[in-house]
Amino acid sequence: MSGRTRATPCPPTRKRQASPEGVGPVRTCVGCRARAAKADLVRVVAVEGECVPDPAGTLPGRGAHVHHDPECLARAERRKAFPRALRVSGPLDTERLHAVVVPR
Ligand SMILES: [Zn+2]
Repeated sequence: MSGRTRATPCPPTRKRQASPEGVGPVRTCVGCRARAAKADLVRVVAVEGECVPDPAGTLPGRGAHVHHDPECLARAERRKAFPRALRVSGPLDTERLHAVVVPR
């Protein structure tokens, strides 16, 4: 068979796709310690003794990441993972996180 035509080759770039196993940005959940795509996690920063959700990733300072999962949030609270991850001494209020960290 000589009439075999190959499909147009894919462009060499554009191979990157964000996935937990792939090369996209990956962060560790402070609740379950699993690594996940940044897009699956909520960024959290400490502001005046309070954990503030930062879904847009625009707030300055150290950030911690947690899954969109109340169980991960509860685990992080139990393990005092937020003060540790955010290098804050003393407890952090997580009230505002509970409104954002919901299953989706
Ligand atoms: Zn998690």
